[in-house]
Amino acid sequence: MRAAVLEEHAAPLSIKDVDAPDPTPTGAVVEVEACGVCRSDWHGWQGDWEWLGIETQPGQILGHEPAGRVVAVGDEVEGINEGDHVAVPFNLGDGVCPQCQRGHSNTCENVMPLGFIQEVQGAFAEQVHVPIADHNLVKLPDGVSSVDMAGLGCRFMTSFHALAHRADVGAGDWVAIHGCGGVGLSAVHIADALGGNVIAVDLKDEKLEKARELGAVETINAEDVDDVPLEVKGITDGGAAIAMDALGIETTSQNSVGSLDTRGQHIQVGLTTQEEQGMIHLPTDAMVMGEIEFIGSLGMPVTRYDEIFRMVATGKLRPSAVVSETIGLEDVSDKLDAMTDFETVGIPVVDEF
Ligand SMILES: [Zn+2]
Ligand SMILES: [Zn+2]
Repeated sequence: MRAAVLEEHAAPLSIKDVDAPDPTPTGAVVEVEACGVCRSDWHGWQGDWEWLGIETQPGQILGHEPAGRVVAVGDEVEGINEGDHVAVPFNLGDGVCPQCQRGHSNTCENVMPLGFIQEVQGAFAEQVHVPIADHNLVKLPDGVSSVDMAGLGCRFMTSFHALAHRADVGAGDWVAIHGCGGVGLSAVHIADALGGNVIAVDLKDEKLEKARELGAVETINAEDVDDVPLEVKGITDGGAAIAMDALGIETTSQNSVGSLDTRGQHIQVGLTTQEEQGMIHLPTDAMVMGEIEFIGSLGMPVTRYDEIFRMVATGKLRPSAVVSETIGLEDVSDKLDAMTDFETVGIPVVDEF
């Protein structure tokens, strides 16, 4: 089968023929119909995240946002059949550890990050193997296409879990989203759907325009102002109730915390780069004085996908609105390259393999 293979960090992926996967007894093989390209792929491509115990090696197939049809299942798989239309959550779990048992598959003790480790090759390929298929595959309802699902990708799931489950967005709450890449734009759309008043912050006007289309009522170009937190506090007359760092660099994280009102909630969803390696300076005294919450949020538990599907089915959430273009496998490298300078707007989705 054709696959885009990482051979050297930050160098173009190699498009080549590799062996198609066979299902393990509990696994399934999915023919990929669509797969989003996201900043997590960029991190894997760069070789980031050894500080998280993840470091992509040569031979890795990236791609962690697939949707498609099941073409083979292992002997021990019970609830998934050939022909099922499925999505694959990017944080694969074992289904049996205490975290999975309590419904927190996103923080599984034996988490397998799809497309980032050799044992779990990703979906920039014609087919992808999914271990422990009964636990890890989500059947798509009618009306959600593979491209829609790839548009949902990890960003929609991550933003939805962060805003709907981890933080507490109420009607009319000011919600400041710092960084309007894929996860940030999804967060704008979701916070709006949940009733928040959204302020979008980015350095690029075209991303802010997209944020307005998706429901932001105010935008701030961080390049044009001296002090982003002060701007947010001016607009909101005191500060946001909820703020998200949707990028994962020190500036956006600090701006997010700084833009909150008393008892505000900061949500960290962006993972950091080589620059920070997971360490960011924060104004802890001010956070104590203001009773500011710092919330980490990772992906979404596989058991809660139905909530998002119901909102997609009724049109409250439109994942395709963040899809900027559909591309072929050989175009992935160019998109990753463009992400280095934050030049992609919205989400490219691979639908030709
Ligand atoms: Zn588990
Ligand atoms: Zn992703």
